[in-house]
Formats: sequence, structure tokens, C-alpha cells
Amino acid sequence: MEVLRTRDELRQALDRSPRPVGLVPTMGWLHAGHRSLIARARSETATVVVTIFVNPRQFDDPSDLDRYPRSEAHDVAICAAEGADLIWAPPVTEVYPPGFDTTVAVGAIASPLEGAARPGHFDGVATVVAVLFGLIRAERAYFGCKDFQQLRVIDRMARDLAIGTEVVGCPTVREPDGLAMSSRNVHLSAGERAAAPVLHRALVAGRDAWAAGERDADRLRRIVAEMLAAEPLAEPEYVSCADARTLVELEVVDRPALLSLAVRFGPTRLIDNELLDGSEG
Ligand code: AMP
Repeated sequence: MEVLRTRDELRQALDRSPRPVGLVPTMGWLHAGHRSLIARARSETATVVVTIFVNPRQFDDPSDLDRYPRSEAHDVAICAAEGADLIWAPPVTEVYPPGFDTTVAVGAIASPLEGAARPGHFDGVATVVAVLFGLIRAERAYFGCKDFQQLRVIDRMARDLAIGTEVVGCPTVREPDGLAMSSRNVHLSAGERAAAPVLHRALVAGRDAWAAGERDADRLRRIVAEMLAAEPLAEPEYVSCADARTLVELEVVDRPALLSLAVRFGPTRLIDNELLDGSEG
């Protein structure tokens, strides 16, 4: 496995690598969620490229960027254990060389939810992923459904710009108590960590109500919100029950829907979601 820094090193390594290529973009501090993406890429493609880049353009909050956890040695060991072939861990100037002056802005799908809560976030995400797609020209790229809207934004961008990389969504990997794995979980205090599984419990309560026949979106949102309200350390930012295709809020759940939320525990912001579409997980 090679760890590469520059665009040129990456291009040269790709030139001598067999296709198809599978890409797993990450911001590092890798955990079992990332591992599942790498493992899926490993099982479907001949060359697996993992990128590790904490993308400054997608942070709407400078303190969130400053304290984002980093440990390249740990990440390299995980990539090796999962059988990745290439790691691209560039400095900021290799991704955004001097003079870089393009922003990729995806439309309606990027507006609600995380787009509304974090202005500029999806511009930053779409721009960095467009650079990665352009450089790596992977046949397939793997993203987690934990960041469902991000997955949909990137899929839209790749299709609209005819990039030729298939965007593959992968299931959310959870801790045994249901908390979705996230690099940001490391910031939770012991008390916050103990409280954080309420996110999943609340979503499952909503999902159970839907499975039992509840179709009023407001009532589903209320079931989730009430369970969150019972946890004093949880400060909900939004609870959404939206059309899974457009992410527009629903009144009646008469089609596949996404139940999603963003919750703060002190300075740490966590997101999670459940699909209401008749599939498991
Ligand atoms: P990040 O390093 O947080 O930017 O995440 C990199 C990729 O891993 C994204 O496609 C995420 O959606 C995905 N990911 C993060 N957490 C999980 C998880 N718990 N399960 C599955 N995929 C995840």
C-alpha cells in the first residue's frame, strides 16, 4: 500500500494500477463505518483508493475544523488492514492549488436539512468530491447512508456533470448501543456518550410507529422529538420527516421517506437517519 501526497504521485500510481478503481473519500480518524466502505470497495474493484483529507471548505464553523480529530498513523493502519491499495493524503495546496477558483453548487437537494443548518457546507463537499472524481476517475465511489443527504448531493453532482463515477451508498455502521459511528463521537464526554444512543432510539421509535401504520408526518416528528426531549444533554437542531427522493418535508407519509435529525451534545453536533421505505436498517 502506498501513501501519496501530490496530484502527480497519485496520477502516476493510478496509471500503473488495474481497473476498475474504487474510491473511498474520508476525512480520516477512520472507524468501522469507514472500514465497511473500504471492505465493500475491496470486494467490488481491483484497485481501492482511500483519500484522507479534512476539507476546510466544508466546515461552516472554524472551531469544528480546528478540533476535527486527526491521526494519520492510525488511519494508514486501518487502510492496510482492509486491503486498500493507495492512500491519497494531500496537503490543502494539492487539492486547492494557488488560483483555484471554482465552486460546485448542487441545487434543490442540497438546500434543506444540513444545507439549511450549515450554509456553504454542501458547496464545500461537492467541490472537493468533484476534484477527487476528476483526479481519480474511479469506476465507483463509496459513501455512507449515515450522511444520506450528502450521498444524494454527490450522486446528483456526478450525474449532472457526466463524471462517469457510479456513486454507491453503504449502510450505517453502529456501536452496539445503536449510536452511529462518527469521527465526532470522540469529542463526547462520558455523560454525553452515555446519552447519545437516544438519537437512534428516537429514530427507531418513529420508524416503529410508521411500521405500525402511522402516516401523519407531524406525529412521527413529534414521537422522535419527545424522546429526544427526555434526554437533558441532547439539544435537538431539527427533526425531519421528508420525501426520501426530494428531501422536502412531508405532511403525509404516502411514499418512501427519510426520518432524520441533528442534535447537539455541548459543542458536538451529531446526525443520524432512518429510511421509512420498507427495507431493513
Ligand atoms: P467522513 O470521514 O466523516 O467524511 O466520512 C467519510 C465517509 O464515511 C462518508 O461517506 C460517510 O458517510 C461514511 N461514514 C461515516 N460514518 C459512517 C458510518 N457510521 N457507517 C457507514 N458509513 C459512514
